[in-house]
Amino acid sequence: MSNGNLDNQRQNEQRCEQEIEDIRRGVRSGNITPDTSVIRFSDEALDEQKHSIRIADEKVGLAVQAYDLVDTHIQQLDQYLKKFDEELRRERENAAITGVHTSSPDGNTKSGKNEGGRGGRKKTRQTASTQTATAAALAAATEALATSVNPTGMDLDIPVDPNEPTYCFCNQVSYGEMVACDNPDCKIEWFHFGCVGLKEQPKGKWYCSTCAATRNRRRGK
Ligand SMILES: [Zn+2]
Ligand SMILES: [Zn+2]
Repeated sequence: MSNGNLDNQRQNEQRCEQEIEDIRRGVRSGNITPDTSVIRFSDEALDEQKHSIRIADEKVGLAVQAYDLVDTHIQQLDQYLKKFDEELRRERENAAITGVHTSSPDGNTKSGKNEGGRGGRKKTRQTASTQTATAAALAAATEALATSVNPTGMDLDIPVDPNEPTYCFCNQVSYGEMVACDNPDCKIEWFHFGCVGLKEQPKGKWYCSTCAATRNRRRGK
């Protein structure tokens, strides 16, 4: 929001307060003047009231404008975050292809899911060897990101433990309860309960918002 709008709003508020003060003073003096002036004052008060309402409407308009502006910025940030996630994923895949030939991070998470998929659907820890492979890929990706993918010059100093693979929309290490997306082609597969608004393991099939949207679109056609 521009400073002009903020100044406008502040001025409007001051004008509002001024009107109220004028009316108050008018009431005080109006009480001791003859009837005709009371009537004249009453008309003036009505005008002032209409004026106040008009200013209040202006205030609402400005607030809506401010809200829309903030909303636009949030959407831009969301898009940037999505792009950043995409780039991070690509960098990690590149690192896996060029640096680690034994196994890709995708393969690791799939095997982890299958182990945990039966019975309690609890996430199982990956073995030390696959973790090391993922860690190497992740470290390479993080390094590549730090040097090449920083288009806005933003400080991307997010502390990442290179020994832990990351999951979820938030791209963080696993913690607490995790839920698996039932779409076998899901890009992420594992999600934090808090990030997807869950309190307990869902009964039956569960799909992340991305896969749910894709499925709904397919079903709609
Ligand atoms: Zn998360
Ligand atoms: Zn999914």
